Amino acid sequence: MDLDDPRLQVAAACRGLSTYGIGSQIGGHVSMRADDEDAYWINALDRTFEEMTPDDVVKMDYHGNQLEGDRVVSLGADFHDGIYANRADVSSIVHSHGPWITALTALDRPVKIWHNLSTFFAGECAMSDDDTFEAIAPGLGDKSTVLIPYHGAITVSDSLARATALHVTLEYAAELDVRMSGIPDASPMPEDMVPRVKELVTRAGYLDLTFDLILRRAAEATEEAGESWLVEAMA
Ligand SMILES: [Zn+2]
Repeated sequence: MDLDDPRLQVAAACRGLSTYGIGSQIGGHVSMRADDEDAYWINALDRTFEEMTPDDVVKMDYHGNQLEGDRVVSLGADFHDGIYANRADVSSIVHSHGPWITALTALDRPVKIWHNLSTFFAGECAMSDDDTFEAIAPGLGDKSTVLIPYHGAITVSDSLARATALHVTLEYAAELDVRMSGIPDASPMPEDMVPRVKELVTRAGYLDLTFDLILRRAAEATEEAGESWLVEAMA
């Protein structure tokens, strides 16, 4: 199996996310659009991100039918259908219940900018009205990120690498935000500073570099678990 295999890519993203403390419980999903058909690859429900391997990734069409594989997938796969159908620009969707992300959703507002990397979410962080699957795709609109109250978040992008890197960055931005929110006199980045910083971190290729890091961490985690599929594909 090589690094281009979508099952390997989805599983590697799950394993990488788990090294950031994201997805240690059942639930959460990573998907990527299949080439040349109305379908996508997504992880099965009955494994945590920490356990995911390429064998745990199935192919679904946009109507809930499993085209390849025979596993239970999350009922939340419904909102992947809705997002892929509505957003031609989206090639990958990452949903998790990351602990800092979930804590942030209780504040019922978009993430505040406490760090350079938080600028990725400036003007890009939507709020879902509630956590019904029907509300999530419309809630996301044309943005990259949606916070789902008392539940978690979704990040989307034009590649699995960037959707995953964005998710890890959101967990970091959320931790800063939740930690800073109670501190008197602390103020987030001034609004007139945000566009310049956002342009800088985008031009620096931060998200793609971060995905390389996520892959290295995933490779280490699989090796520690005695699994060779990812290390062999990266060799
Ligand atoms: Zn969920």
